[in-house]
Amino acid sequence: MIGVTVLGATGSIGVSTLDVLARHPERYRVVALTANTGVERLLEQCRVHRPRYAVLADEAAAARFSALAADAGLAVEVLSGNDGLVKVASLDEVGQVMAAIVGAAGLLPTLAAARAGKRVLLANKEALVMSGALFMEEVRAHGAELLPIDSEHNAIFQCMPGDFGRGLAQVGVSRILLTASGGPFRSTPLDQLTEVTPEQAVAHPNWSMGRKISVDSATMMNKGLEVIEACWLFGCSPDDVQVVVHPQSVIHSMVQYSDGSVLAELGNPDMRTPIAHALAWPERIASGVADLDLFALARFDFEAPDFERFPCLRLAYDAIRTGGTAPAILNAANEVAVAAFLDRRLGFTAIAEVIERTLTELDAADAVSLEVVLEADRRAREIAIGFVRK
Ligand code: NAD
Ligand code: MG
Repeated sequence: MIGVTVLGATGSIGVSTLDVLARHPERYRVVALTANTGVERLLEQCRVHRPRYAVLADEAAAARFSALAADAGLAVEVLSGNDGLVKVASLDEVGQVMAAIVGAAGLLPTLAAARAGKRVLLANKEALVMSGALFMEEVRAHGAELLPIDSEHNAIFQCMPGDFGRGLAQVGVSRILLTASGGPFRSTPLDQLTEVTPEQAVAHPNWSMGRKISVDSATMMNKGLEVIEACWLFGCSPDDVQVVVHPQSVIHSMVQYSDGSVLAELGNPDMRTPIAHALAWPERIASGVADLDLFALARFDFEAPDFERFPCLRLAYDAIRTGGTAPAILNAANEVAVAAFLDRRLGFTAIAEVIERTLTELDAADAVSLEVVLEADRRAREIAIGFVRK
């Protein structure tokens, strides 16, 4: 039996993870579930999955949860705050940690799982974008296993040779082909983008996801974050990562080899596939995802990304090329801008403007320590909030 902690259990990835875990009760035991403020949903999940620990990041929510859990006669230990999240990410009885908190809030608990030498199932791409070098160093130093949940990176991992850690050129890989759906505004006339509403932006054509990543997909910042994520996971440079727009989202990414071979991973767009893959790797388990029907699909389309329509993608390539704390600044400014957009305080096209202005205002430093990264995150948020207000 493998003990599992699900960080961000009440979110889109968390719910899909619990669905896969429940299909294999002989294999996995849910030890801890966490949420930010979603008391009712977490309570329901505790009723079904009977974890030993429940963590609410928000203190008031934790107090409310404790009272309701006691009323319901649930034997669950309730923890709160960042300390609670870090604790359940590092428990001895836990072998695998699903890192599915959204945004920078996931960094410290995800790092704690790496430091405790766990198998880290990484959905929280922002953690790696912020602190790539430090994060990968912790993974190496503590013998943790890092398995990508992001569908593209999971696909790339599946198409890579096992010894890719030696370097892509050494193992005959010439390029990573990172596929992108292009989001809901791939062909919207450019002059209409300023008018886009949060409802339109979160309505992704192929994937059902949390609100923040849905907006990131609409601006293609999600793909930019994924380029950075790929650089750290696969030890390559941004020049080795080609974004390929593929509106059907059936090819989840590809790896091109020096002999001309291109390996791809295909499937229905359902996150339970990469989740099941990473949980069981190197074995395979059922995920509940329907078989792919190639005859129903009929065709695959591909196009080059449009950097004029999607300036966020260009900003992300620039940030990883600059290096140091630039990706952390990019990520923090993006979180501020997306939250303001969802709150109707910022227009859709102004998201990229806020990020670009923040990156211009705040110089990147060498990301020599976690403190330096967290300080860059904090400063970037202050500056971006200033630009949102103007
Ligand atoms: P979501 O918004 O649906 O869920 C987020 C989870 O994080 C919730 O459980 C929430 O309670 C928790 N959370 C939010 N703020 C928190 C805070 N301050 N402290 C502690 N917990 C907090 O998001 P999601 O779509 O499930 O995405 C989660 C992560 O997975 C993101 O990093 C996203 O980029 C990544 N991801 C998601 C998908 C997808 O299909 N949803 C695909 C690839 C990668
Ligand atoms: Mg993805």
